[in-house]
Amino acid sequence: MIELNVAIKDKYYENSETAVLSQLDFKVNSGEFLAIIGPSGCGKTTLLNMISGLESCVGQHISYSSNSSGNRFKKNDLASDCSKSEYLENEQANRIGYIFQQPRLMPWLTVRENIELVLDPTQFNKIEGLLAEVGLAQKGDYFPSQLSGGMQRRVSIARAFAINPQLLLLDEPFNSLDAPTAGRLRKLLLDLCREKKTTVVFVTHDLQEAIYLADRIIFLSDSPCTIIHESIINFPKPRTESGIAELEFQAKLTRQFPLLLAGKID
Ligand code: ADP
Repeated sequence: MIELNVAIKDKYYENSETAVLSQLDFKVNSGEFLAIIGPSGCGKTTLLNMISGLESCVGQHISYSSNSSGNRFKKNDLASDCSKSEYLENEQANRIGYIFQQPRLMPWLTVRENIELVLDPTQFNKIEGLLAEVGLAQKGDYFPSQLSGGMQRRVSIARAFAINPQLLLLDEPFNSLDAPTAGRLRKLLLDLCREKKTTVVFVTHDLQEAIYLADRIIFLSDSPCTIIHESIINFPKPRTESGIAELEFQAKLTRQFPLLLAGKID
């Protein structure tokens, strides 16, 4: 299992005079499911891209430690910055899965071939099992265009879990799906994360979804984005999306901080 530490002083894009992220410090414990909520455009995708190594984090501190092999090893502990190459070192010890807003499947490849893309050929034999786990047994020879939106998301979930991720990043993965499909996929995601003991960072703008899924939620401000509030969700799982405890928690939070989802605490 993997633990993630993030300490971002400020993050600028080239040719921009204003920071996207500012003073963003948090930790995600091994096996924890952390949800991140923030207004549109505040920098959530930028944050996930920095954690994954897709976006530069020079000058910032993003580190993770793993005890998966029984030997606790800590990486980049003293580093003041990190880069993609540092993420690629120790690839085996720190596998990061990333599920994007869109499934991002290659349209000219079959479902099976889309998953093969992330695997070594010696591991191709696990694809049928994975497809069965996400409810797509017998669909390996289909092309993405022959699948519904929900089925395409299932393929992207299977592809992310194919590498046995120790850390899984998700960027509003169930956006634009109908409610029953999104509900089924949330349950599938929770089952897989529990079974594989994955540490998760899940970005959403949907408070109800976050309360259903997460152990903890951090709320972000508008740009330059920083943490304005944190909530621990400690009632037991499995939860119910519109359960009384869940809805009461949501109502209490929004009564206390009416502008929280807009990135304001008062
Ligand atoms: P969110 O995911 O919260 O909607 P993003 O991380 O996508 O926000 O974007 C945050 C801000 O950074 C936005 O103002 C966006 O225009 C800007 N931005 C995102 N990517 C880039 C980029 N590659 N170059 C310059 N600005 C960017």
